[in-house]
Amino acid sequence: MRLSQMRESRSHYPGTYLAGGYNRLLTDIAGRVVENEDLVNFPNWLVLKVRIADGDWFDPATATLLSYRQELDLRHGLLLRTVRFQDPAGRRTLLHEERLVSMSDMHLGALRLTLTAENWSGPIAVHSALDGQVVNAGAKLYRKFNNKHLETLAHEAVGADAIYLLTRTSQSHLQIAQVVRTQYILDGHPFDVQPLVSEQSDYISQDIKIEITEGKTLVIEKMVTIYTSRDQAISECGLAARKAMLRTGGFDSVRTDHVLAWEQLWHRFDVRICPGPGGFELEVPMLLRLNMFHLLQTISLHSIGHDIGIPPRGWTGEAYQGHIFWDELFIFPFFNYRVPEITRSLLIYRYRRLDEARAAAQTAGHMGAMFPWQSGSDGQEETDTMNLNPRSQRWVPDNSFLQRHVGSAIAYNVWQYFQVTGDSEFLRFYGAELMLEIAHFWSSMAVFNEDRARYEIHGVMGPDEFHDGYPDATEPGLNNNAYTNVMAVWVLCRAIEVLDRLSATRRAELLAQLGISAKEIARWDDISRKMFVPFHDDGIVSQFEGYETLRDLDWPAYRKRYGNIQRLDLILEAEDDSPNHYKLSKQADVVMLFYLFSSEELQELFTRLGYSLADDTIPKNVAYYAARTSHGSTLGRVVYSWVLARSDRQSSMTFFAEALQSDVADIQHGAAAEGVHLGAMAGTIDLVQRVSTGVEVKGDVLRLNPELAPELDNLFMRIRYRGHSLDLLLTRDAITIQGSDPDADPIALQIYDKLYEFVSGTTRVFRLKGEQC
Ligand code: BGC
Repeated sequence: MRLSQMRESRSHYPGTYLAGGYNRLLTDIAGRVVENEDLVNFPNWLVLKVRIADGDWFDPATATLLSYRQELDLRHGLLLRTVRFQDPAGRRTLLHEERLVSMSDMHLGALRLTLTAENWSGPIAVHSALDGQVVNAGAKLYRKFNNKHLETLAHEAVGADAIYLLTRTSQSHLQIAQVVRTQYILDGHPFDVQPLVSEQSDYISQDIKIEITEGKTLVIEKMVTIYTSRDQAISECGLAARKAMLRTGGFDSVRTDHVLAWEQLWHRFDVRICPGPGGFELEVPMLLRLNMFHLLQTISLHSIGHDIGIPPRGWTGEAYQGHIFWDELFIFPFFNYRVPEITRSLLIYRYRRLDEARAAAQTAGHMGAMFPWQSGSDGQEETDTMNLNPRSQRWVPDNSFLQRHVGSAIAYNVWQYFQVTGDSEFLRFYGAELMLEIAHFWSSMAVFNEDRARYEIHGVMGPDEFHDGYPDATEPGLNNNAYTNVMAVWVLCRAIEVLDRLSATRRAELLAQLGISAKEIARWDDISRKMFVPFHDDGIVSQFEGYETLRDLDWPAYRKRYGNIQRLDLILEAEDDSPNHYKLSKQADVVMLFYLFSSEELQELFTRLGYSLADDTIPKNVAYYAARTSHGSTLGRVVYSWVLARSDRQSSMTFFAEALQSDVADIQHGAAAEGVHLGAMAGTIDLVQRVSTGVEVKGDVLRLNPELAPELDNLFMRIRYRGHSLDLLLTRDAITIQGSDPDADPIALQIYDKLYEFVSGTTRVFRLKGEQC
């Protein structure tokens, strides 16, 4: 395929991203100079073109294709393509391509192209390159921004068969060194060629010509080693990339190591569902595997020990400029229960950015740590101040940075990690500081309203990003977003609990260091009992104070007029109207509370606050908000699927199916091309694990509330919990739990409401809703 076409074609956009590889650029746009930090698209190592005789370079878009098959081999982590084509001279050629990014060595990528001349003999030209001319052009929303992040520092031939390119990001000065080696095997024999090396600006290539005879096969193996100036245990990235290439074997040996690494990864992350008769219309087991595959390509054992956070689209595209939001809340449970060392490492991304969050709180006149809604390299707020509405072509203020609830998500993630692992060292050193600083921030955000005798939080936005202020108010922000307020209460309660868990020395040390007094802790307790939560219509938790005064939207009319109304915010703005006038939501907001907490936990929180939560509160609220939500985010579907799972199976399954296919079916019409949705991907797996087993950890007890989903015949999953590796097999009648770590301390296990001691290395069978077998 031609380079220019590869760059322009939406479905063949060759992105090369580095976890944590950001750069800032300035753009003069709409009369302002804006600064953006992007996850950089690094030089493309995939360029490999072939040409028969004096024909055109092979291009599947223009060639006469006799057959074309592309496969993603999830088990082995391979992208495969088989193409048969015929050129205008009637020459038929078979191409078979295998690609991988090594799971065994994170610095290595490999590609093998096998070409068979079916009915012709003649010369064939091959062009292999490293292309540093790439820019960030993968996301529509940012097309108007400057996008050239790279400067070339060096390029040269390395030995007889390799080329080298060293580039640097323009502002963050991150160097990236790539060595590409291209080797040829003709009819089963390695074939030494002297490629012609061309060095143009930011682009270095190798060209060769080989004679091939009818029926023979030419194999081209292209390997890349990639190192950056941030890599550990190297002296310099260029040297590291060269040394690594010298040690790299042929495609088969690279593939063998890669396949073994995937095999071991799949073993660790095994979740298998077996649908019953008439189970699903969709290929659910395969779609779940696909989701796991994308998650594991993004986050794996290689992530451990690196300074990286997880953007919503991972390293699969440029949507949201690769910034990091709150999506970890949906992503981490999948990893927590399997390789918690990964979550630990990712939580430290947040810990390292505490100073930036403290500075942000201070600038805003608060105490503690105020984490940004969008985070990148150093943890400062990266949310754009304006966004272009593609419908109206108007630049519209983006106030989503007011989503202060991101800090609570971080605290929640810390706590979940701690619950699943019992890692008290992590809590002592990192977790406690994070949680205390976030709690301190909430305390300083809370203001006491004498009239109500309750604390309030003002000027924020909830997860529903459609409302950013009151109708016609001059300042953005909403008061008493229920989700924000309840999460703040939960954080304050957990922070007090964390203090109780610390040794006296560590507690005194931390409190002194963070400037948190006994009076301040007493205030946390007070806020956690007197926070205001708005209600209306007899038991509906108001999304924010004043929500009930907003107008109802004529949903059928909008659906009729626009068809797809997922992004009602853009539709209304283009109509010179605003979502702020209406009772509508982009995604779950109040309903998030029912996703994150069991009814028992919510009951505890509301009782502490002096509010009653009637039996029908949860279903009533879910129904109320479901009718007022446009589902403009894939995350919300995961939430709704969960909250409806045991009460309205059909709706729950509809949401599940949509979330599961977020990218495969591109339910957001074009969004998948800009990167997959990792939150929805992980969320669907978490749904499978949680709905059927009811797994949760509370008070040092692993609780299971098993009820096999009606669509399933059985479910198998392997989890790690406090040093135990547990194989869970859930059938219609029983759950079997097999432990395989001989040395782990016994754990408390609760099945329904009965408590057991589980000893490592044993197998226990529990009958569902009944007694132990
Ligand atoms: C959602 C956010 C989410 C972000 C990244 C937005 O559309 O509203 O909740 O964090 O996408 O996935």
